[in-house]
Amino acid sequence: MVDTEREPVLILMFGATGDLACRKLYPALFELYKKNHEFAVIGLARRQHTHESYRSMIDRTLDQNSEQRRDFLERFYYQPLDVGQPYHFALLKNIAEQIDTKYNLHGNRIFYLSLAPRFFGSAAENLKKAGITETQGWKRAVIEKPFGHDLASAKELNEQLLRVFDESEVYRIDHYLGKEMVQNIEALRFANPIFESIWDHRHIANVQITLSETLGVGDRASYYDQTGALLDMVQNHILQLLILTAMEPPSRFDTEDIRQEKVKVLKAIRTMSRDTIANELIRAQYKAGVMPDGTRITGYHNENNIDTDSKTETFVAARFFVDNYRWSGVPFYIRTGKRMAAKSTEIVIQFKDITQNPFFCQLHKAGPNLLVIHIQPDEGLSLKLNVKEFGEAGDTIPISMNFSNHHDSKSSTPDAYERLIGDCLRGDSTNFTRWDEVAYSWTLTDSIVAAWNDIPLDYYEAGTMGPSSSDELLARDGFCWWPLTKME
Ligand code: NAD
Repeated sequence: MVDTEREPVLILMFGATGDLACRKLYPALFELYKKNHEFAVIGLARRQHTHESYRSMIDRTLDQNSEQRRDFLERFYYQPLDVGQPYHFALLKNIAEQIDTKYNLHGNRIFYLSLAPRFFGSAAENLKKAGITETQGWKRAVIEKPFGHDLASAKELNEQLLRVFDESEVYRIDHYLGKEMVQNIEALRFANPIFESIWDHRHIANVQITLSETLGVGDRASYYDQTGALLDMVQNHILQLLILTAMEPPSRFDTEDIRQEKVKVLKAIRTMSRDTIANELIRAQYKAGVMPDGTRITGYHNENNIDTDSKTETFVAARFFVDNYRWSGVPFYIRTGKRMAAKSTEIVIQFKDITQNPFFCQLHKAGPNLLVIHIQPDEGLSLKLNVKEFGEAGDTIPISMNFSNHHDSKSSTPDAYERLIGDCLRGDSTNFTRWDEVAYSWTLTDSIVAAWNDIPLDYYEAGTMGPSSSDELLARDGFCWWPLTKME
């Protein structure tokens, strides 16, 4: 991993007035500033702002109790810019050079494209034409998701970017890779021989990955209706969770070695065809229902800005197989959806029962060993084991050993964006997706999209964990979804 540690840099923040910048990026930059990262920022968006009004806008996104706000905000400058106007980039070049000199930033530049994806290509092209990417220092481009909407569009976008940046300079964000417990999967697996020695088809019965949301489509309705759960969640976040659970240990703890192992998992995932998909995948849409807190929810069809006959899925469940020696025959079940009973992201590893287990046969209260990785909102681990109940009767009962990242330490735990921007500032691209990883994930999801028109859209009531067909997907193999667990 390259670690250029704390080199000063100019950040050119495209989409500077947008939702993501205000909710996530400025607070993350503030935390990094407090940890002595050195940078200046030029905010770029279509709206008119003075430097002062831009700084006031950012100030409203920050923790008002911190005394360092003023010094931090002084490093922000604003330039109105339309990515389609080459002239605006010529102005930007001058400002960038002035700020570079003022803060002695050595020509290091990060281009953060927090823009709608259709603008990524023209922004990169105009940066190059204006000579802003020709710099004495290093340059990096951070690209927000979604990276394309299928393989063809992702390839086109990638070609546009690679005309301006080298692959090693492109940081494709999947913010899930910045989450504490997602980053912990590798440590949990590779730093603990008790897990690594049983992390395979001989000991693991199945893996269950859930990413459930209670929210509906909100103000993203028109985007979501074009996208659906498969492209919004499975192509990126869920596949990343599956990959990290399934990958082989890298030979060295090195960015390219880790990425290489991740790509191998994607290549080994069995593709679905028209003949097999009905047995492997459920797509469903929510209808009216009641959330656990009593809120009545209208059906997806009746949401604002959604076609009344929309066939977009708001839920996907699937069974994947990773066709390699380690995972031979082990199903990886995934599910994700909107308006589900609980908001949770977790991975459950279900271990195989001991054959002829005398305790298990006699004592029905015992259950399989489960390792649960809680990613959000809880952050931690639980390990479910069987022990003899204390006392005379001595039934075998399941117990749970929990490790939870408690609230006290949470406030000092960096947010995913802080962690990822920090990685980018240091030149560590391990937790960003390499092009071939993106390409293979699109190949997989494209094959699903091509095959799934033949399977009917199912429906589930809002406020549930999805349609019964999702339970049947596991029941056919003799398994069930383990109920989501809340940590103490
Ligand atoms: P947004 O619509 O809130 O903001 C878009 C920004 O782009 C605004 O600052 C706007 O002025 C600017 N812009 C629009 N047209 C422009 C043009 N022609 N030239 C220059 N600037 C222009 O969008 P957002 O929610 O902030 O999302 C930004 C990116 O981040 C998108 O790629 C989105 O998919 C991704 N993303 C957003 C979130 C989120 O929570 N908002 C989460 C993950 C990924």
